[in-house]
Amino acid sequence: MSGKYATETLQANESGIARAAAILRAGGLVAVPTETVYGLAARADSEEAVGRIYEAKGRPSFNPLIVHVPTIERAERLAVFSAKARELAQDYWPGPLTLVLPRREDAGLAARVAAGLPTLALRMPDHPVMSALLEAVDFPLAAPSANRSGFISPTSAKHVLASLDGRIDAVIDGGASQAGLESTILAVRDDGNVDQLRPGPVKVARRNSASGFAGIEAPGQLASHYAPGKPLRLNAGDHGDDEFMIGFGDIAGDCTLSEVGDLKEAASRLYACLHLGAASDKPRMAVASIPDRDIGKAINDRLRRAATPPD
Ligand code: AMP
Ligand code: MG
Repeated sequence: MSGKYATETLQANESGIARAAAILRAGGLVAVPTETVYGLAARADSEEAVGRIYEAKGRPSFNPLIVHVPTIERAERLAVFSAKARELAQDYWPGPLTLVLPRREDAGLAARVAAGLPTLALRMPDHPVMSALLEAVDFPLAAPSANRSGFISPTSAKHVLASLDGRIDAVIDGGASQAGLESTILAVRDDGNVDQLRPGPVKVARRNSASGFAGIEAPGQLASHYAPGKPLRLNAGDHGDDEFMIGFGDIAGDCTLSEVGDLKEAASRLYACLHLGAASDKPRMAVASIPDRDIGKAINDRLRRAATPPD
């Protein structure tokens, strides 16, 4: 362990959640399991607490955070919900869908949460531990993924500690995240149009392409992200001796996303395989081709960013 904190590992039970709530109330940082990936939570109404998130992650200040709430009613106190937004929230919450909506003037949130944007990204997670924590505190939680900025996202407490041990107050160990990929992000426009800013576990029927303006709209969606720290070759049919192979379906690997070719299983195992590959003694990585449909689109989005070297 290094850094200024002695990071506590808390159990995912009543006393662990009570301890986490106390740390958050005091303005501290707690990594919490959600159904997507582990989030690094801080109280969203405190400029100081939110500032700690950026500091611990080394996250650029232009990259806004997702705010987590326990109910739709609480969400409506923070942002303006159009009829379309309400419909989406009712259909998909709790769940891995983030809505970007006009922020309310009186939301009472730290300015840094939205990184200066007039909008706010909101989500109601579907995980017993995160939900219990949100119920236990009386403020919303800002929570980006619990990893150093630009690195592989965490789907276990061990992954969190691999990059944030000593930099945060605590992590709640709630086992492996089920969905395994960050939430789908949708921006709901004033005219009722919906744009997808990030592909994820939730597939939405009607969407416009956001690729033309994603750089402005979703400032954190950088070309290089989820970086394993070594070259990653995509669409690999076979692999060299110096490559850690991530398999899928008929193509077996050192780590296999899904032997039966199931895309949901592949999504839930993606970051675990990337973490293993990053920690292996092989200098390079390769990954089998993943069908570009359903959640496969979100997997390929993450793989392309993981394969793009940082500047
Ligand atoms: P992370 O929490 O690491 O999954 O990152 C959250 C992502 O949500 C950011 O990288 C942004 O791309 C996106 N986001 C958050 N707030 C907004 C917003 N107000 N407008 C557009 N995108 C947002
Ligand atoms: Mg992230």
